[in-house]
Amino acid sequence: MTRRQNLRKKKHRKKFFLVFLIIFSLFFVKISYKYSQKNVSNVVEAGDLSESLLLMSEKSAINMALEHEKSIIEAEKTERARMEREERKRLEAKKDMKIVYLTFDDGPSDKITPQILDTLKKYNVKATFFVIGNLAEIHPDLIKRIHEEGHVIGNHSYSHKYKHIYSSTTNFINELRTTENVLKDILGEEYETKIIRFPGGSFGKKKEVFRKAAVDNGYSYYDWNSLNGDAEGHNISKNRLIQRFKTTSKGKKQLTVLMHDINTKKTTVEALPEIIECLQQNGYEFDTLK
Ligand code: ZN
Repeated sequence: MTRRQNLRKKKHRKKFFLVFLIIFSLFFVKISYKYSQKNVSNVVEAGDLSESLLLMSEKSAINMALEHEKSIIEAEKTERARMEREERKRLEAKKDMKIVYLTFDDGPSDKITPQILDTLKKYNVKATFFVIGNLAEIHPDLIKRIHEEGHVIGNHSYSHKYKHIYSSTTNFINELRTTENVLKDILGEEYETKIIRFPGGSFGKKKEVFRKAAVDNGYSYYDWNSLNGDAEGHNISKNRLIQRFKTTSKGKKQLTVLMHDINTKKTTVEALPEIIECLQQNGYEFDTLK
């Protein structure tokens, strides 16, 4: 082989190798392009999928939350209806029940109130005390004791002076407010009582404006339908008080008994155990005014 022939052969080989390299490169580029495209579409598809999964889970989470809320509202509704039914039943039952509200007016007093509290404790009975504001100021400890022993305190004006109280509705309301503040001073700012008893009772046409003023100012007033007659004279005997109670309570299912815890009412303390026993024997339940 000549040198020239050798050179040509080498040139051919070089050319062939170059062509091969180009073809191979092209093929490689194509393959890698295809592969990369596939990857991109995979990513896009995966992205779409995760996004739709997210949307679905979001939707179901919202639905679940709504369902949950709905079930809570339903449960609350059912519970409310149940409580209303029970309250109606309780009130219905109460209509037929024999209930007595023992009430003590015009205190507190240092001699009588503690003895009445002792008796009530002995019989495990609760009562309502309609106190006078200026006496509450003098005996804050008794007010505390009444309250701590689970009895209810009502408002019976500040001065108990009819002439002043009933000369105007302003005086009347001011008397109630002053006593409210006295009670707050003794029992704490949180303490509140809105039940009142009119000095001398709320009866009669003359007191109509005062009844309206009381209600307009958020008070509930209570009179009585039974009494022991301890305000009908001085030193009335124990037996007469019991008799008076029996006469005035006869045939009544709901009793609000008026008594007094003033220092002069010694026989009220003496008659109280028999009055309580009589009520217990006749099936009365003791409650407090609210
Ligand atoms: Zn009174």
